[in-house]
Parts: sequence; C-alpha cells; structure tokens
Amino acid sequence: MAWKSDFPFFAAHPELTYLDSAATAQKPQAVIDRLTAYYVNDNANVHRGLYQLAYATTEKFETVRQQVADFVGVAAHNVVFTRGTTESLNLVATSFGPLVVGDGEIVTTVAEHHSNFIPWQQLAQRTGATFKVIRARENGDVALADVLATITPKTKLVALAHVTNVTGALRDIRTIADAVHAVGGYLVVDGAQAVPHLPVKIADLKADFYAFSGHKVYGPTGIGVLVGRTQLLEQMLPLQFGGEMIDQVSIDESTWAPVPLKFEAGTPNIAGVIGLGAALTYVTSIDWDTRQQQEQQMLLRLRRGLAAIIGVTLYGDDDSVGAVSFNLAGVHPHDLATFLDEQNIAVRAGHHCAQPLMLQLKIPATVRASVGLYTDEADIDRLVAGVEAARRFFNE
Ligand code: PMP
Repeated sequence: MAWKSDFPFFAAHPELTYLDSAATAQKPQAVIDRLTAYYVNDNANVHRGLYQLAYATTEKFETVRQQVADFVGVAAHNVVFTRGTTESLNLVATSFGPLVVGDGEIVTTVAEHHSNFIPWQQLAQRTGATFKVIRARENGDVALADVLATITPKTKLVALAHVTNVTGALRDIRTIADAVHAVGGYLVVDGAQAVPHLPVKIADLKADFYAFSGHKVYGPTGIGVLVGRTQLLEQMLPLQFGGEMIDQVSIDESTWAPVPLKFEAGTPNIAGVIGLGAALTYVTSIDWDTRQQQEQQMLLRLRRGLAAIIGVTLYGDDDSVGAVSFNLAGVHPHDLATFLDEQNIAVRAGHHCAQPLMLQLKIPATVRASVGLYTDEADIDRLVAGVEAARRFFNE
C-alpha cells in the first residue's frame, strides 16, 4: 500500500499491526523531516526577535495558521493554537461558558470523550446552569432526533463531538447548529476524531467553536487548534497571562493583543506548529475521496470479519468513521487486548475516556480498533484472525 511506505514507523516495526490511530496517528517522513529542519535551520522565538531569522520563523509560524484556516474553511484570526483538543475545549468552557450560561441549560451527550464532558459538568456546577446529558441508543450513540428534542429555548450551550471516539458515530453538525442557533444558543464541536478522516469546513458546519488535535491528523503531539467565531473570541478573557499576549502593560492595568494572540501567552509550541503545517501539507496532497473510500473499505472489512466470529458484539453502525468498538463474549476486553498484543496487534481496550457511555451500556470497557490512511487489508485480516484465535483460546 503506497501510503504505508510514507511512514517510517512501519519499517521500524515490520512485525506490528497498528490499529490505534484514534489514540494517536503515526507520522509521515515529511513531518519528521520538517521537525528536524526546523531545529537545524529555523529555531528562533516567534513574534519577538528583531533579527532576520526571527522574522522568517515568525512568518513560517503564521503561514501555518493560514494553512490551518484554509484547511478547515475559516480566516487565520479564527485559529487559536493550543496544546490539543483538551485544552481547546477547556478554554471555551472556562472563558466563554460563564459569559452565556446564566441559569440556562448546557447540553451534551453520554457518548462524549471526558474532555468534552467534564468541562461542561464542572461549568454547570460552578454556575448553577442545568446540565442535560442525552442518553445513547443501543448502538452506543445518541440519535439526532434525541439531540433536537433536548434543545429548548433555555439551551445556552450544546457541546458534542463531530465523530465520537468510541464508536466512530458521525453527527449531523449543520442540522444541530441550526437548531441551537434558532434558540439563541452556541454550539461547541469536538473535532478530534473528525478532522483526521473527513474534509471539515467549519464555516459551512456553522459551529461556533471547533477543536482538534495535531497528533491525530499525522502531526506532532502537544499542538492543537481551537477555531472560534471572531466576535465570540473577542468577548472571551484570556486564561493565561504573560509574554506576547498583551497590547500595553502598566503598573495599574493591562490590555490584550487582538485575537488570536491574546490566547497564546508565552513561547508557543513553535516546532509543533511547523510540524502540523507539514502534516496538513501531506494530508492535502492525497485526494480525500480516495482516502475516505480506502478507510471506509477497511472498516467495513473489519466489521464483516468480526461479525462472522461467534460471540462478537459490534457497536456503532456500518457508516461509522475511523473506528470499530467491539466485545467478545466471555472475555474481558483487557484480556482480549493483551492476547492480541502477544500477536503484535495494537488495539485499545478500556472505557476510552467515555465512562458515562460504558455505565449506560452496562459494560466495563470495549476493544477499539481504529484506522489511518496507512491501514491495509493485511492489518485488518490479522486482527480478525487474532480475535478468532482468542475466541478459541478462551472459550474452548
Ligand atoms: N475528543 C475526542 C473525541 C478524542 O478522541 C480525544 C483523544 N482521545 C480528545 C477529545 C482529546 O484529545 P487530546 O488528548 O489530543 O487533547
């Protein structure tokens, strides 16, 4: 498979079947080379130095901001660099949340990642707002009709994932955004599992805030993005104060730099930003349709293979994006993952940072296999054979 050879990780681990890209994706050579070139050629602090190298590096840094903006269909000043999805969502909950929730309702779902659940739970507890959590249907995700029915004239904030990390359920963000806006509320979208798999245009989706992580879209760890509507970012107070986020500072008062810089106090993750730029260049060099088809074929092959094994329960639907969650009757998910690990198959087992969903489904955990653009049929077939071997080993 052509794309696998772009990732030196697989040459370093020829024996490994890596099916945990939802946790973090492997990095193409182009990203690794760009990080090395950054430290060899470009290392200087940004937005500060008055020498040519510092100007040039600042320009490269800001060029990536424009590249991210183009990638997700917004303007550069809408793009705030953060450490990741978690930091992006916490920034919105802490800085924007109190401006709008009042004694209204905050709506989320039982199937969210903890990083898009706890910040809203805590915001509700701090402010006295009502915390409404939509329950999942049997397949492990909420139904659109249930989301729409939960939104009322008291709804101030709705927070949900574009694609969920347990079952890969894809939500109809545009329809939900219209419903939220019709009652004067705001929509916060966790895009961590969507951006690696789908072309995302945030302005078309009409999300007010949209968060994602660099490391899941083939970029470095420690870099993420918060996209916000200009007017909303302007209303928000920065959470961190320090260098490069100010306009004027005197003994008595301080004023802030314009958005997005007022949210980026201190030396940013410059290498992370540069590496993210290289990752997006790599991703956009591949045709979306071809890639989506490839990933979808791998997931369907996996669902079919697993469904044919006695005792396997599959969560999610055939149109799930990026991941398949499953369990094997009579085998604890952790034991199954350990058995697979002994055969050099890396999958995730656990609650996937979604304990409320596990509680509702009355299961301790699931096994999750997730794909990237490098996942091929051999990877899928090895996992299916591994699960069948586990069934025989544990049950016969
Ligand atoms: N939301 C979802 C849906 C995720 O899958 C993840 C990563 N597992 C996160 C948020 C958190 O992302 P990060 O750890 O990169 O901040």
